[in-house]
Amino acid sequence: MGNVTLVIDGREVSVPKDFNIIEAAKRVGIDIPALCYDPNLEIVGACRLCLVEVEGWNKPVTACSTRVQEGMTVYTETEQLIGLRREILQLLLDNHPNDCLTCQKAGECLLQEYAYRYDVKFREHDGDRRRALVDTSSPYILKDDSKCVLCGKCVRICYQVQDRQVLSFGGRGFDTKIVVDADLAFEESSCVSCNRCVTVCPVGALVDKRVLGKARPWDGDIKGVKCKACDYGCNFEVLSKNGKNIAVRARSPLKGRPLCLKGRLMTEFIYLDEPEVPYRKEDTQFVETTWEEALGLEGVLMKLSKDE
Ligand code: SF4
Ligand code: SF4
Ligand code: SF4
Repeated sequence: MGNVTLVIDGREVSVPKDFNIIEAAKRVGIDIPALCYDPNLEIVGACRLCLVEVEGWNKPVTACSTRVQEGMTVYTETEQLIGLRREILQLLLDNHPNDCLTCQKAGECLLQEYAYRYDVKFREHDGDRRRALVDTSSPYILKDDSKCVLCGKCVRICYQVQDRQVLSFGGRGFDTKIVVDADLAFEESSCVSCNRCVTVCPVGALVDKRVLGKARPWDGDIKGVKCKACDYGCNFEVLSKNGKNIAVRARSPLKGRPLCLKGRLMTEFIYLDEPEVPYRKEDTQFVETTWEEALGLEGVLMKLSKDE
């Protein structure tokens, strides 16, 4: 693959010609804002935050879906672009609960980060806001529709694994939301609690319930570990505070790594000082289970006890 050379905000960079402008900008330390873009997911150009200007082109283009070209000159932070981003962010905040103080995602939330970067604040208005529709039915995932920015990353990442096509867009216009199967609660749905969707949600709309209230990113230490349950070796993080390992959460899966509940529970069991009770799905209900069953060890243990 050949390289092309372009200039972004006055910095020259040479990158492979299949790069998009976001990837090229990253190479020279420029972070173009984007809520719906993820390098591992199909590109949809939905949030419009990554608009950039290209010299000689008559209107701004989305940096996620525009390939680099030889000799291109790109501007990522002009007055016009900053104005557009501020408008988009203001509309998002106008329809968002002012809950950063207690939100599990605070400190890692992209909406919070961009609102800070572009100095956009919550404001009073007479229009509608998304209703707080919180699904607490799963012991593994908390879904809060009022915080969703409809980036669609959760839908795209759930669809990447066959037989896990659980999430989709439902409703219309202002009432559009992410639905689980035919708008069911997580507990009643076909969700397998792999938490892929949680790992890519840029805001606090999907959060890991087993981490909830225990720690936020600045609050303790985070160590990356690999799952030992199978050859995929999916990536997890162990969160610790005051010298104790208190929670495990899944990391965004790379291509070909599926993530699964069994791997997550095994990682919890191995690393946590006080692992929480595991749950399994029985028809349309989560029920407490034993660690032996959660880790699929019942048969092995039975065989061992017979052999003694
Ligand atoms: S999702 Fe982000 S912006 Fe919304 S309340 Fe949580 S931290 Fe704040
Ligand atoms: S936990 Fe996994 S299966 Fe369930 S909705 Fe999220 S990505 Fe899909
Ligand atoms: S739940 Fe999160 S990932 Fe899914 S569309 Fe909403 S903001 Fe995006």
